[in-house]
Amino acid sequence: MTISDELENDQSGKLVIISGPSGAGKSTVLARVFRNSQLPLRWSVSATTRAPRPGEIEGEDYHYLSYDTFQEKRARGDFIECFEVFGGGDWYGTLKSEVAPRLTGGDWVVLEIDVEGTRAVLDHYPDAITIFVRPGNLEQLGERLRARGTETEAQIERRLEVARKEMESVSIYRHVVVNNEIDTAVVDLCRILDRYDSDSVDSP
Ligand code: 5GP
Repeated sequence: MTISDELENDQSGKLVIISGPSGAGKSTVLARVFRNSQLPLRWSVSATTRAPRPGEIEGEDYHYLSYDTFQEKRARGDFIECFEVFGGGDWYGTLKSEVAPRLTGGDWVVLEIDVEGTRAVLDHYPDAITIFVRPGNLEQLGERLRARGTETEAQIERRLEVARKEMESVSIYRHVVVNNEIDTAVVDLCRILDRYDSDSVDSP
């Protein structure tokens, strides 16, 4: 059975893909959307080989795996998609086990993944609801990353370079939310999702 068969058999839920440069405030906006929305949104917790940041929790933010365990899972076909995201040796991937059972249960499964990952998932699941959250401008992004203080200057430069590239791929997404102001971005994102709710009057 292919990934696409597995996903297509599980159509009772919806797949939502959110991307956007790291540091664009995506996580803050999403946390608020999860709290405010009436929809059955569920995170897909990705696997990563990067070390946890202070305050991050295993099984909530990510499943933190060693490089070897990650590659074993990759070889076994446990991932829908996985990539070395910043070309710096850290791998990230969406586990099938995080997605298929939740879709079957009717949940809206939310993937917070990069542009390459989105392309890979869309190959199998073209109906996914794709949303790109972007900062007002890249200077703002650099400022946010520096204020967070969890990366070195070299890592920040690399992330900004990836962000520039990612912004060029914005056209593969069905929706774009500009995060200039958090409250507005939260409302915009909730409105987009509500439009896909079959119980809602103006669903597409
Ligand atoms: P961070 O290290 O800041 O948590 O995440 C870095 C980047 O990795 C973000 O742009 C995020 O969207 C991406 N990412 C997180 N999980 C996954 C995943 O499972 N697959 C892919 N392709 N990208 C991911």
